[in-house]
Parts: sequence; structure tokens; C-alpha cells
Amino acid sequence: MPVGTQATVKAVPQDVLEDLGVQILLGNTYHLYLRPGIEQVRNLGGLHRFMSWDRAILTDSGGFQVFSLSDLRKVTEDGVTFRSHLDGSSRFLSPETATAAQIGLGADVIMPFDECTEYPADASRVRASMEMTLRWAERSKRYFEEHKGEVPWKSHQPSAISRQERTGRQPMTTDNCTQALFGIVQGGMDLALRKESAERTIEIGFDGYAIGGLSVGEPRALTREVVESTLEHLPKDRPRYLMGVGTPEEIVEYSKLGVDMMDCVLPTRAARHGLLFTSEGKVSIKQARYAGDQGPLDPNCPCRVCQRYSRAYLRHLYAANEVLAQILNTIHNLSFYLDTMRRVRHSI
Ligand SMILES: [Zn+2]
Repeated sequence: MPVGTQATVKAVPQDVLEDLGVQILLGNTYHLYLRPGIEQVRNLGGLHRFMSWDRAILTDSGGFQVFSLSDLRKVTEDGVTFRSHLDGSSRFLSPETATAAQIGLGADVIMPFDECTEYPADASRVRASMEMTLRWAERSKRYFEEHKGEVPWKSHQPSAISRQERTGRQPMTTDNCTQALFGIVQGGMDLALRKESAERTIEIGFDGYAIGGLSVGEPRALTREVVESTLEHLPKDRPRYLMGVGTPEEIVEYSKLGVDMMDCVLPTRAARHGLLFTSEGKVSIKQARYAGDQGPLDPNCPCRVCQRYSRAYLRHLYAANEVLAQILNTIHNLSFYLDTMRRVRHSI
């Protein structure tokens, strides 16, 4: 899943994402909650309509951003009070308000509000954090069950450019549809706690299961060990989602272990910093060695960037700080990631 933090996958228009074969993208509740605000998006028909994206969307709960981006947060059993990183205003997110926000955005898959346990953390801290995430998961589920009918797509009016006019397809009937709520397994790097968290999360009952609390600074070998161990305890007939990974090599490796879904800012963020993933390894396009290189970025890549432009041109755009550099670099990196996953699906 490409990451579309602020209702946009940075630098890439939605029609290009469709051409690249993006089936689902991720939106960040924390950012959309602060700007433009949940009610605004709801009044505009929900996130799909607001950003003109008919395909699937997953929103996170905002928990990870609250813990990583905001200042002066205060965590209680009730929820988290924090200061907005935009204007310093005091805000509050809880299992109930984060679920309400995600129902208001109307994504297809939504996540319960959890506490992302920091790394390193001692055993008692990891246990206490995991227990709170489980209590929060129950509250999220309860709120969801009571309010799942309040999604914006059940009430919206046709807009000037309806989906049907744009695509020529009949809109799907959504009257009996609800969002899917996934559960999140925590438990730090402790394999026994991960098992317990998985079992108790499954007991609450969700449409899919995510492995959270990884890629928080731990060594990669440890990430892999925790993923492999946790997957054994998650049902094979439900989507299994590993949050916040990874490199092209890692997404292949995790797929082999049984992970179905992943999201990561790496392909888009690295692209904006001139770091490109290719079939021949990483290319730092800013380097002077590419100034006279007339070859394509990746000779084995069928994407529109590699088919049309030279390394010399991409290097020039980057050096000149041109907006097009971000656009082309991001399109290639996303294309490379999506091709990687297409190969994985094909081999499965
Ligand atoms: Zn390419």
C-alpha cells in the first residue's frame, strides 16, 4: 500500500496511481483529523470522494503519529491528550474518537487505536502497554459495532462529476456494506507476549489482523523473528497486515512468511530524496557520475519514467531542484514496488 498521508500520495496524481495498478492506499487519520478536519471530509462525502479515489483505502488509527509526531502527549487509560504539531492546539484521541474519525473518513479498512510500545522497553512496561492496547481494542470494536452505519457513503449526494460519468461503470451498491475493522497485535519484542496479544486480539474478533509496534528502531533480524513468530498465531483465512515495512527485499521476504499487506513511506520518501530502487540495486540519482549517463534509470523497468527519460535528465532535474524530479522519481519507485508485489502474487 502506497502511503497517502494527507489524502495524496505525495507528487503523484490519482489517475497515474490507477495506471500503475495501485489497488489500495493508506491515509493517515492523525493528519486528516488535524487538517482539513474529519467533519470537513465527511461533509464532502468521505475520503474516497474528497480525493477522487474509487479504489480501496485503509486508514490507520492515528496512534502511531500521536506517539511519534506530537509534543507534550499525556497518555491515560481514557486516551491520549497531545499538542498538534501544526498549531500547538490541544487535542484528544481515544479508541472512541479515533474510530469515530475513521468512520467519518469512510475508508474501507480501519484500525483500532493502539499504543505503539517504544523500543527498547522493559518487560513490565511492554506488558502494561499490551494490556492497555487490548482494552482499547475492545472499546474500538464496541464503538465500531454501535456506529458502523454512520459512514459518509451512505448519505452522500451525487457530485458534479460522478463516478459513473468518469469511469462509465455503475457504482457498487454500498447500502449493506460496512467498513472492515482490523485488530493490532502488540507485545514489543517478547515472543510470548506477542502470542498472548495475538490470541486475545483474535478472541475480541476482527476482520483482519495487523502486526504493529515494529520498525521502531529494533535490529532487522529481530523484526523478522517477531514477524515470523507472530504470524504462526494469526488465522490464515484473514488478511495479515504488517505495519510500516519495508525495503523491496523485505516485502518479498515477509510475503514469503505469509504477510498479505504492508505499507511503507520508503518508496515515496526515498524518491523525494533522490534514492531510487532498481533491479540492479539502489541508485542515488544526485551523484555526479550520472550527469552524462544516457541510459534508462532501470533497464529492466517497464515504467513510463524508465521508458522515456535518461539517468542524466533525472540527475539534472534533481540537481536543479525541479518539481518534476519528485514526480518522476516517485512514479518509478512506486512502479518498482508494485512490480515486485505483482511478481510475488504471480509466484504464489
Ligand atoms: Zn522505472
